[in-house]
Amino acid sequence: LKNIEKKFKAKSAWFQPNQYVHAVNGVSLELKERETIGIVGESGCGKSTTGRCVLRLIEPTSGEVIFQGKDITKLSKREMNNIRKDIQMVFQDPMASMNSKLTIREILSEPLIAHKIPRSEHEHLLSETMKLVGLSESHLTRFPHQMSGGQRQRVGIARAIILRPKIVVLDEPVSALDVSVQSQILNLLQDLQEELGLSYLFISHDLGVVEHIAHRVGVMYLGEMVEVADKDELFEKPFHPYTKALISAIPKTDPDDVKERIILKGELPSPANPPSGCKFHPRCTFAQDICISAKPEIRNVEGRQIACHLV
Ligand code: SF4
Ligand code: MG
Repeated sequence: LKNIEKKFKAKSAWFQPNQYVHAVNGVSLELKERETIGIVGESGCGKSTTGRCVLRLIEPTSGEVIFQGKDITKLSKREMNNIRKDIQMVFQDPMASMNSKLTIREILSEPLIAHKIPRSEHEHLLSETMKLVGLSESHLTRFPHQMSGGQRQRVGIARAIILRPKIVVLDEPVSALDVSVQSQILNLLQDLQEELGLSYLFISHDLGVVEHIAHRVGVMYLGEMVEVADKDELFEKPFHPYTKALISAIPKTDPDDVKERIILKGELPSPANPPSGCKFHPRCTFAQDICISAKPEIRNVEGRQIACHLV
């Protein structure tokens, strides 16, 4: 992603007519082969919009999505359909994105038909993909409502990988599941990554989940990336004050861990009317005058990217 921006015309009654919401404001990110980048942040920070821009389910207002050397935001609908074979999406609620009147076989056949995969290959792909996601062929005749939440998400993942994509964007893929089922699905995703050589853009508000699965993490606040770092470094020593607050809020399992929880001041401001300078300044305990007047650009510091005047 290069400098992705998305502005929406605000429609809800909360906003003035013709007011724009800058949902994503200049986000850049490089996803490598077989890498998982976690994108974290509070709801409304633009992480889902960023993920949808990768597949052009939402058209970015400006910026580039470079895939295999090409800016795919410039492609025609037909050319883009070809790319969709390589970039797929998994949603939080697989039921909402599945036709409940279709059997699992029909649901998984849809992408095969849409992408004109020869009929002779369907059976093999269906059974192999079911096996890959830990379901059996006997599940193919079921309907989504006859399966558990975890099984349905396995179907959601099966649908995303049946065309053997390169990139999968996962938007809160385990947030609706029980904790025990969550870890099964996360382990499945890790196995699939290894086996199929996938790259993941993993969007979640849950830092514990991201810590489990990501290699690198991008932290978003009000439409902007404020810190991108290696997962271990970020969790061990967050640089950005917002990242520090997020990480301090993770429930501790280690009784010797005495780091204090940082409570953020105030509410998340409206994205339609963001604060000046550093958008985080009204809630930041370190804010100085410069933070109110000047926006900190994202820059490289010790192998990370960070947007803060004081770091
Ligand atoms: Fe806090 Fe200033 Fe850094 Fe923003 S730029 S995070 S307000 S210290
Ligand atoms: Mg979201």
